[in-house]
Amino acid sequence: MVADSSVFVLIGPGGVGKGTVARLLTQRDSRLWLSRSWTSRPMRTSEKGEEYVFVDRATFEAAIAANEFYEWAEFHGNLYGTPIPSPPAGTDVLLEIEVQGAAQIKSRHPGATVILLLPPSQIELESRLRGRGDSDDHVQLRLTSAATETTVGRDLADYVLINEDLETTITDLLGILENVRQSRD
Ligand code: 5GP
Repeated sequence: MVADSSVFVLIGPGGVGKGTVARLLTQRDSRLWLSRSWTSRPMRTSEKGEEYVFVDRATFEAAIAANEFYEWAEFHGNLYGTPIPSPPAGTDVLLEIEVQGAAQIKSRHPGATVILLLPPSQIELESRLRGRGDSDDHVQLRLTSAATETTVGRDLADYVLINEDLETTITDLLGILENVRQSRD
């Protein structure tokens, strides 16, 4: 981990659009390096294989035992984790994770900036979750945990943004990154 990199952590309920926001933000800001997580979750039909390093549970557990993760958590029966980051020099780190992992980062690295993304409404969140091909049971499970992600997320967050319009969200995030960098440099 490069010592002078800032760490930005994007959290929020599943379906809020964190993945899209994280990818776009990294494209727009060349000084930002997006970490690629590991997961033991099976790949969705809508996924291409680049979203995560997809591994089986035994492989994931071996990496935990070898202390290869910066943070990791179990979410809905699957393991998710951030490998210890090695960003290129001069870049800051962006993580897109759930709240248990964000809490680990904050306690280990209090200077990390946590940004909570929220949906404009519960109805919008539900339709986004249905749109990505998860089963009904899975959608219900995700809606239940959305409440936890939101409540715990509010306690952890340095900034809270409503992801209503993607462009506005990206502009707001670029502003937050700039503020943090200015106060650091
Ligand atoms: P999904 O299965 O929808 O891709 O992700 C489920 C949740 O796991 C999302 O909230 C996502 O942000 C989170 N997640 C993805 N990667 C990581 C990670 O490396 N660590 C942690 N703690 N959560 C992650």
